Amino acid sequence: MKIICIGRNYGAHAKELQHEIPEDPVVFMKPPTALLIDNKPFYYPDFTRDLHHEVEVVLKIGKNGRHIEPEFATSYIAAIGLGIDFTARDLQANLKAKGLPWEIAKAFDHSAVLGDFYPVSAFSDPSSIPFHLEKNGVRVQEGNTKDCLFSFPVLLSYVSRFFKLQMGDYLFTGTPVGVGPVVIGDKLEGRIETRDGWQSAFQCQIK
Ligand code: ZN
Repeated sequence: MKIICIGRNYGAHAKELQHEIPEDPVVFMKPPTALLIDNKPFYYPDFTRDLHHEVEVVLKIGKNGRHIEPEFATSYIAAIGLGIDFTARDLQANLKAKGLPWEIAKAFDHSAVLGDFYPVSAFSDPSSIPFHLEKNGVRVQEGNTKDCLFSFPVLLSYVSRFFKLQMGDYLFTGTPVGVGPVVIGDKLEGRIETRDGWQSAFQCQIK
């Protein structure tokens, strides 16, 4: 199983980090040891002083495929959920300034929080899914997949040119505007709207 992540997929977030709007998707990966599931707490790591939340819609891959054409890509999605791409922003800024790979800032243990997944049919339109993140009961990030710079089919097609998609893989599809720091004691809750209304997809306490 691998965890593929997309950076800068929402224009307003790219702007808040003063990035150019990318011509192609920005792709990076996290190892399986990055997973944090079952609403387990996240322990603030000692290597950062600026840990950021990035709430993201996550696709669970349902079948193997490479060189997938965009028009067939949706059939590769087994389920849709919500997660957090925890980011050590201070480490990332240092590495980016030096033009170095940012793995230690993004792919560390438990940096990939995953919550509940819902079948694609649970969404009236997967290309327009509202979602948000609450920190201590206050909404801090709010997005809608209709604002993605690269749609789910385009992302799956692009990524599968380089990496064979395999059943059970995850694709984090990028974070909307509003990323920010967390501190010990914070309680995060990710919410996503299905046909049945708003769902609490995950909760994560920072310890
Ligand atoms: Zn992210």
